Formats: sequence, structure tokens, C-alpha cells
Amino acid sequence: MKIMKFGGTSVGRPERMHQVKDLITRGDEPTIVVLSALSGTTNALVGIGEALAAGDKSLAKERIDTLHAHYLAFYPALVQTAEARAKAEEIIKEHFEFLNILLKISFNEAINRDILAQGELLSTKLFFTLLGELQIPAVFLPALDFMSIDENSEPELPKISEKLKAILAQHPKERLFITQGYICKNHRNEVDNLKRGGSDYTASLVAAAINASVCEIWTDIDGMHNNDPRVVDRTRPIAEMSFDEAAELAYFGAKILHPASIWPAQLYNVPVKLLNTMEPTAHGTLIKAEVETTGVKAIAAKDGITAIKIKSSRMLLAYGFLRRIFEVFEKYKTPIDMITTSEVAVSVTIDDLSHLEQIQAELESFGTVEIDRNQAIICVVGNKVAETKGAVQSVLDSLINIPVRMVSFGGSKHNVSILVDAQYKTQALKSLNEGVFTW
Ligand code: ADP
Ligand code: ASP
Ligand code: MG
Repeated sequence: MKIMKFGGTSVGRPERMHQVKDLITRGDEPTIVVLSALSGTTNALVGIGEALAAGDKSLAKERIDTLHAHYLAFYPALVQTAEARAKAEEIIKEHFEFLNILLKISFNEAINRDILAQGELLSTKLFFTLLGELQIPAVFLPALDFMSIDENSEPELPKISEKLKAILAQHPKERLFITQGYICKNHRNEVDNLKRGGSDYTASLVAAAINASVCEIWTDIDGMHNNDPRVVDRTRPIAEMSFDEAAELAYFGAKILHPASIWPAQLYNVPVKLLNTMEPTAHGTLIKAEVETTGVKAIAAKDGITAIKIKSSRMLLAYGFLRRIFEVFEKYKTPIDMITTSEVAVSVTIDDLSHLEQIQAELESFGTVEIDRNQAIICVVGNKVAETKGAVQSVLDSLINIPVRMVSFGGSKHNVSILVDAQYKTQALKSLNEGVFTW
């Protein structure tokens, strides 16, 4: 079995949904199709939730109506028969009635997550209606029946696998299964999600859960590029990369993949292909266990980083000191991205600021604490980049005009990370583009 995931732009217009229908019906291999919400929908739902959280019901109503109008304009070009149109109307009515009811009840976080789930529910149901109209046999697989996360918001892969396999076993002869990306149930059995961009993560988890032959991520660009195409001109797609390289790029800001979306596929050695719905014959990027190529392959950047420096002349070299520092972050469930040490200080970076004040207060018992907000991690990735002669030098040479706050190198063979003030991010990405690519 294989997985084909289509992102927001790939389902964002009626004609694109028709294209998706063509792509999923080309082969014979049984396929689980994972769909995102139509592009713009999740942002709109976030906006509705924010208006409700702020108690501004008239703004929420206005936003619900705008989104509703979008769907009412969408479906007539999607399906043609009276029967299919009636179905589509019914689906849209059901979900917008739900949103409108929320205007009348008191708002909380669980309701907000219900709101966020509407996008994927709508897109999959509308797409399923299109398949029905065209008499293409398919099974609707509600993600809420098998996708789950634990109390730490981590996916429960063994459970997901068991449940999904049991559902699939009920349909041994079917070839097409349609499910939602992004949404899941949490440990309280409430509707939850895998965070923004989470449909990639769903696809990879489903691929791992059933040990799929391949996990295809269909999007609006021809694969992973060597630099952020939103910032830098003349970027190029990369034909092949390893799971380690892709995981590093996804985690450090390459928006084409959800930050955590590689590990499930890597764990079960399922190759991941990044493909372009708008240009289906383009090669795209193949991500697999081992690749031959060495040297700098790609650069990504992650914004919204905060650097914390703990200075302590007395204690830094004492054993157990770093452990005590890390325990503070562990206590507040705050992951650390980068670390550098010197004789008198240690610097770490975080991107989750929910507990920054408490963390700062506790760290102050170890020494002086300095906080620098608005930083960006620039991550340079390539197979054996750390061992490739001249690679690190070319990275630092390219950044000659930019103040570098931290450098992390040697943690793995395939990455060099640099922390700069966010105001230098674009300049850093552009300078590195000129300086490090020899091909
Ligand atoms: P989807 O809706 O299909 O999930 P996304 O918008 O989440 O699509 O991801 C695709 C976008 O990621 C591209 O349009 C591109 O602008 C952006 N992107 C950022 N960095 C990269 C990169 N290194 N390679 C390719 N695309 C990237
Ligand atoms: N619709 C969700 C989002 O916009 C999930 C996804 O598209 O991957 O974040
Ligand atoms: Mg995405």
C-alpha cells in the first residue's frame, strides 16, 4: 500500500481536486489518500477561534460568513449532478451550522480545536462526494477513528497502527481510502491536531503504521529546494536526500515538511517522495535511508528563536552543572534546539516561550541570565558536511558581514547551525546561497 498526501493548494480549487482525482486513480496499488484543508481555510478557522477567544462574536460571525461564502462558491464547480450537489450542500450546511452554534455557547480550548478540525473534515467529505459522482470506488476513513496523541501530544504509533490495520482489514478488496490529515484525538478523547502543517505528519505516521511502500507528499513545488524559495531567488530542487538531512531541514524551518514528519517514515524505512501536484512529471525529491552525495545540500531558517545565556564563573566546569540547567528546561517541557558552551557560560536556544519567565527565574540561581529574543537559526545541511573539507569555512566566510551569535557544529555529521539576530536572516540566506553551493 502507498500513501498520497495532498496539501492545501493541491485541493484549494475545484479543478485541483479534479487533478488529485486523476493522480490517485492512475495506478493499481492500494492507496491511502491524506488530504489537508483547502488553502486558506485553517488560517480562517484560526481567525474565527481568535475572535471567539477575544469575545468578539460579531467579528467571529463575519469570519464564519466569509468562509461559508467561499465554500458555497467552491462546490458548483466541483460536482455537476443534482445528487452530488445536494450532498455537497448538505456537508457545507452541517459544518457551518456547527460553527454558527459556537457563537451561542461559551468558548474554551477544546472548542477551539474542534473549530480547527472543520477544514480537513470539509475537504475530505467534498472530495469523497466528487469520487462518488464519478463512481470511483473509495472508502472514507475518519482520522478521528484511528489517529491519536498522548498526554504529551506525541502520536501513539503502536495504537494508530493497530486501529488502522483493523479498519483496513474490513475492506480487503478496496483500492482507495480517503482520510484527513492534521486532526486526531487526544488522551481526553477530545478532537485535537498535530499542529500547523500537520498533514505531512499524518501521512508519515500512516505510512509507518501500515509499513507502506512509499509516502508521497504532493504539494505546490517540485520538491525540497536548496534554500527557502520564499526568501531567495534561483533556488533548485534536490533530487535525493537522506532521512537525516530531510529531518534536519524540516525541523529547522523548511516549510515544505512539518518539523516532525520524517521520523515515522525513517523508523520504518518508508521512502518519502516530495512531488508537485501542478507538475506531476517533475522528478521531485526522494528521501531515503542512504545517499551517495556529500557536501552542502540545503539551507533552512527557523524564526522566533530565543537565546538564553547562563554565566557562572564558579560552577560551569563543575560536573552536574549542565544537568541542573537541563533539568529546568525538562521541568517546563521546553525543548532546547542549540547549545554552545565556554568556560564561563553556556548558551541555549528555545522556541517555545510559554514558560520563559519561570525558566529564567530558576536559572538565575545558577548565575547571571541574559535573554536575546528575535533570533533565527540558520541551518546548513548536507551528507557528511561536517567532514567535507572547506564546507564550514565557506559557511563562515559567507557570513563575514553578519554578526553571528552562536555556532553549533559537530553534533551530527550533516549539519552546521548558526544563530543570528532575525533581522539578518534574509541577508544570511542570500549570502550563503552565493557562497556555499558549488553546483
Ligand atoms: P502544502 O499546503 O502542500 O502542505 P506548504 O505551503 O506547507 O504546502 O509547503 C510548500 C511550501 O514550502 C512551498 O510553496 C515553499 O514556499 C515553502 N518552502 C519553504 N522552504 C522550502 C524548501 N527548502 N523547499 C521547498 N519549499 C519550501
Ligand atoms: N490544514 C492544516 C494547516 O493549514 C494542516 C496542513 O495543511 O498540513 O496547518
Ligand atoms: Mg504543509
